[in-house]
Amino acid sequence: MVDTANKASRVIVSEVKRFVDKEVMPVATELEHKNEYPAALVKQMAQMGLFSMTISGEYGGLGLSFSTYAAVIEELARGWMSLAGIINTNAIVGYMVEQYGAKEQKERFLPVLAKGEKRAAFTLTEPDAGSDVAAIKTTATKHGDHYRINGSKMFVSNGSNAHFYLVLCKTDKHANPPTRGMSAIIIEKGTTGLVVTREIDKLGYKGLDTVALNLDDVEVPITNLLGGKEGQGFQQVMSGLEVGRINVGSRAVGVARAAFEDAIAYSFQRHAFGKPIFEHQAVHMRLAEMYSKIEAARLLVWQAAEKKDRGERSDLEAGVAKLFASEICQEVVVDALRTFGGYGYTKELRAERYYRDAPLLIIGEGTNDIQKIVIARALERIYKK
Ligand SMILES: Cc1cc2nc3c(=O)[nH]c(=O)nc-3n(C[C@H](O)[C@H](O)[C@H](O)COP(=O)(O)OP(=O)(O)OC[C@H]3O[C@@H](n4cnc5c(N)ncnc54)[C@H](O)[C@@H]3O)c2cc1C
Repeated sequence: MVDTANKASRVIVSEVKRFVDKEVMPVATELEHKNEYPAALVKQMAQMGLFSMTISGEYGGLGLSFSTYAAVIEELARGWMSLAGIINTNAIVGYMVEQYGAKEQKERFLPVLAKGEKRAAFTLTEPDAGSDVAAIKTTATKHGDHYRINGSKMFVSNGSNAHFYLVLCKTDKHANPPTRGMSAIIIEKGTTGLVVTREIDKLGYKGLDTVALNLDDVEVPITNLLGGKEGQGFQQVMSGLEVGRINVGSRAVGVARAAFEDAIAYSFQRHAFGKPIFEHQAVHMRLAEMYSKIEAARLLVWQAAEKKDRGERSDLEAGVAKLFASEICQEVVVDALRTFGGYGYTKELRAERYYRDAPLLIIGEGTNDIQKIVIARALERIYKK
């Protein structure tokens, strides 16, 4: 459950709710249709400390629980899903640096990330390797006191606005299995050879920059190897992905809730056959189903967040939450469209945005096919005698 006993948690969730109602809702549709980066909103989010939520106080963060983080992400996504995505890669990289970084790395990166003035991107995916992370080709070879990195990365969220890139590379091309030869290395913006080659135009998730990156003889000091030991990168990014899946699950709950809240409000106003459409059983039963799915999804996300808060491995819970929440979100946004009739199909209502945003959630942070594999492997661990 969200940590309501904690005053700081209650305060931040209600502050974010107010921010979304007053600042985000009035501008989100216009910014989204223009595909414009929400610079002013991001600045306000940084001032509210939202980029530091899960970074501990020692490094200038708010040190809030993942349960509170989940509740905040739900609120942001209710206003505009892209805002939750702008925070996501920062939270993943911040978590990875705090969990696995050397002391010097924590001191160098965490206070800067916590301020929200400089932000991080998280890059695993390559043009020929998405689900199959083991197939990445980007290499980092050691030359004295630095690594030389070559390769290309695809679908880098926040890739133009980021100041640091956490990049999964192969430091041992001959490792068997290949995942044992992978390392996570942080590249700073402006390093020679790191080039954003293009911005990817998307169906939804607008405003947020998603780019392709080229890495051509990029030289970084060996002190940028996360944790200082090669071969740990795959396990580190898998743990980071659990944080990402809490974000994506919460986003799904937020988008579904926004669609539901718009639909139920409309069902009381719109009349057909002499009464509000809410009074037609087909409509109110659909709304009851939408609501029930959202409530169930939120509990799953909170369960995963609580497990992460206890410092326990949460691949099963995060996988289940991400799978269920993103699938119900997809159903709920379509049900919202049905409720609006023809108006739902226009660009005048927010329902069309939810309809375009929702599919990313069944793909991002590992497709739902991959979630099922993650879940099945965890079940094997638990149940196979
Ligand atoms: C808007 C957006 C933002 C993104 N942001 C980031 C980011 O910031 N950082 C990052 O690293 N990545 C990011 N991604 C990449 C995303 O994580 C990948 O797109 C996703 O993991 C799928 O990889 P792929 O696109 O290569 O699809 P593929 O791996 O080629 O998959 C294609 C299809 O095959 C299925 N499939 C593949 N393997 C299996 C299998 N073993 N069993 C069953 N089915 C399988 C998949 O489920 C899918 O349906 C982003 C993607 C998008 C669209």
